[in-house]
Amino acid sequence: LVDAGCSMRQVKNSLLDFDTSIEKIDAIFVSHEHHDHISKVAQLSRRFDIPVYASIKTWRNLPFYDDYFPWERHIFEYGMKIGEMCVDFFRLSHDAVEPCGFVFGYQGKRVGIATDTGLITSSMLRQLADVDGLVFEANHDCSMLRQGSYPAFLKHRVAGEYGHLSNDQAVEALSKLVGINTQQIILAHLSEQNNCPKLAYRAVRTALDRMNLDIAVSVAPGKTAHPLVAI
Ligand SMILES: [Zn+2]
Ligand SMILES: [Zn+2]
Repeated sequence: LVDAGCSMRQVKNSLLDFDTSIEKIDAIFVSHEHHDHISKVAQLSRRFDIPVYASIKTWRNLPFYDDYFPWERHIFEYGMKIGEMCVDFFRLSHDAVEPCGFVFGYQGKRVGIATDTGLITSSMLRQLADVDGLVFEANHDCSMLRQGSYPAFLKHRVAGEYGHLSNDQAVEALSKLVGINTQQIILAHLSEQNNCPKLAYRAVRTALDRMNLDIAVSVAPGKTAHPLVAI
């Protein structure tokens, strides 16, 4: 499980919808310490005895740091394996201490996750090149953000290099990342105020069509689970 910012019931029900259960989760990975990503991590981990993994600096900034014994604070390592799944991670550019994205490898397939980044980082491009499946941030439409109701400082934060990727930046990154193996892109972390799913979808779909690539694109709903995707 990557991050846990929604209610425990939502996590449990979503997993049940996918014919699995919270008891089958072997690890929770924390991408960064922002509240919307970690608010239910400790609760889930304690209740269901699931180990939590984060970078060293992120651990130190987690509000539940002191509630965990040192040996319970699992740290990201290069070449990590959880059961049969390989896990790699890479740096993002975000206003958190050590934000990370992930690549999960299993039986020759790789799935990447990258949200909460203001820049397309070089390690992101390296790690996510030609992944089979990709959950990727398309946070805002630039003109919606500009004309929207956010205060100026927040507009700066979102659009800045430690903020979030716009639809245009997502298009730019995805055009570089997709390859012959890429089957599915799920756009994620859309702003409710500064984006709309149709705009994000259209921007990416148009770019991929121009490249003549037949890759499925969908948008992750904010409050409910995206349907299960098999890669
Ligand atoms: Zn964040
Ligand atoms: Zn976030």
